[in-house]
Amino acid sequence: MSEALKEIEIDSEKRNAYWAVQLAAHVDYLKKHSPFYKDLKGKVSTVADITQFPFTSKDDLAERNEDFLAIPQSEIRDYSATSGTLGDPVSYYLSEKDLQRLAQNEKGSLEIAGCTSKDVFQLMTTIDKQFMAGLAYQMGVRTLGSGMVRTGPGVPYMQWRSILKYKPTVLIAVPSFIPYLLDYAEKNGIDANTTSVKKIVAIGEALTNADLENGALMNRIKDRWNVELISTYASTEMATAFTACAENSGLHVQPELIIVEVIGEDGKQVKHGEIGEVVVTPLGVEGTPLLRYRTGDICKYYDSTCSCGRTTPRLGPVLGRKQQMIKVKGTTIYPNMIVEALNAIEELKQYIIEISTNEWGGDELSIRCEASSNEVPRLITERLRSGLRVTPNIIVEEAKVLRELRFSENHRKPILVRDLRG
Ligand SMILES: [Zn+2]
Repeated sequence: MSEALKEIEIDSEKRNAYWAVQLAAHVDYLKKHSPFYKDLKGKVSTVADITQFPFTSKDDLAERNEDFLAIPQSEIRDYSATSGTLGDPVSYYLSEKDLQRLAQNEKGSLEIAGCTSKDVFQLMTTIDKQFMAGLAYQMGVRTLGSGMVRTGPGVPYMQWRSILKYKPTVLIAVPSFIPYLLDYAEKNGIDANTTSVKKIVAIGEALTNADLENGALMNRIKDRWNVELISTYASTEMATAFTACAENSGLHVQPELIIVEVIGEDGKQVKHGEIGEVVVTPLGVEGTPLLRYRTGDICKYYDSTCSCGRTTPRLGPVLGRKQQMIKVKGTTIYPNMIVEALNAIEELKQYIIEISTNEWGGDELSIRCEASSNEVPRLITERLRSGLRVTPNIIVEEAKVLRELRFSENHRKPILVRDLRG
């Protein structure tokens, strides 16, 4: 068992007692400082009392964005933003204490991932454009007592030059970029396995399937590069990261920072091994505090003890957005199940999944793909039929068109799914 394990990660009674105190303080803070929550009713004596409070939706946050600001403007230290449900970005304001919390969060996340102050990090994600993630990583690595090279996304030449010069041990990167990085290395006589890199903290994309087995992208990277790949899950609104430990058996909650619920269609907590929507109550937030915020993310919920010793709730990878649920002829699937199936097809270089409404009002699934061989459309159809029991439309596209669609400038992650339903 790692020394970094905290008491409330192991002892569920102590954790529940801690959560009850934190939740009561959080609710008091909301009533006093948040215009959105000022009329909140109810008292907290146990953590289970959280269920008496209403959910907060993405639409609430978009429509009444400024009502969520709970500090004077003079105390805002960072103006983060995230894409909202109404098209306009949704602002997320952080105080000085929120920034320190964010740094602690990322330090904790990196510690769960097995990183220490001896590591050197290379940040291969955007730090500007009001994104929170890059900022969180930068502060977290400093708090961990370690150093960082900020290379930003893309440009394999520059990434390798930095790896060879500064010898980072950990890359923080979008995992679907790694195969491109390896292609470049192979073409240019760089042996990735003899470099300093030991670990990749993966941002934005799932590395395992819902049952926590290694996913296709993970296998494709590991076949070529002997590195440890760490799954994470985070969002601006929760200002907290969920991180896989070395056992790679789901994403661990950081109990000092957040209370997580995973709810089914009936709004009630699902049981171990069931799928539901992730609902978060980030603790200790001053600027934009939230209560029972419905993320719209669908994950499998685990509450068994992890082999690392933690008894905290864990999440499987995000299977999709709640509204991305696809019902094709009675079969319910989420986009990332399709992503997972497609990533297993080695011949398939690039693709985009499109979900649209057909003339009868049902859901229709199309795959836009680069056909690097004539076999590709058949392989896609076969895999989706056998694995997910759906038959997609296949549209063959030029590589250039797909690349432009996938790596839009305003997105930090490649776009794999387009939902065109009205
Ligand atoms: Zn664990």
